[in-house]
Amino acid sequence: MASRGINKVIVLGDDSEERLRHLLRKTITTKYGCMEFQGCVQANGYSRATVFRKTDYAHRHVYRLSHGKLPDGLDVCHKCDNRRCINPDHLFLGTRKQNMQDAVSKGRQAKGFSFPHTKLSDADVSEIVTRARNGEKYKKIAMHFGICKQHAGSIAIKNGVRRNGVSK
Ligand SMILES: [Zn+2]
Repeated sequence: MASRGINKVIVLGDDSEERLRHLLRKTITTKYGCMEFQGCVQANGYSRATVFRKTDYAHRHVYRLSHGKLPDGLDVCHKCDNRRCINPDHLFLGTRKQNMQDAVSKGRQAKGFSFPHTKLSDADVSEIVTRARNGEKYKKIAMHFGICKQHAGSIAIKNGVRRNGVSK
């Protein structure tokens, strides 16, 4: 049963393996082997999920479910630098400091962009606003930009778009 990326599963005697498989099923595998989680992506580019009633970043859940408990003070980092990726083979443990240094060296820290959603460029934001003004559904806009619809809606509203039924 060594299907994609879950051949290192440590069976913990509970349904961890099933939870892990459940998370991994909600992914799309890229040509680089990244398994991008299709849940809601946050402003910081990470996606969150709830497992065993605990909400955390999806990649942290996957690390715990596939490798066991997370040691204190360590972060789960991405070898592939793809924050949406939850492929257990692409995750490694590092200190928070290493993670930050890694981010700096890969140039993915906030690039002086005052808008909190660093994933989107100015051009993206204005396109979102334009589309929202034209009445396009937030869900559709969100899918286009790989963000969640609440995020698309909040961008539009912040930029003066007014319409009934914000969550549409
Ligand atoms: Zn990856």
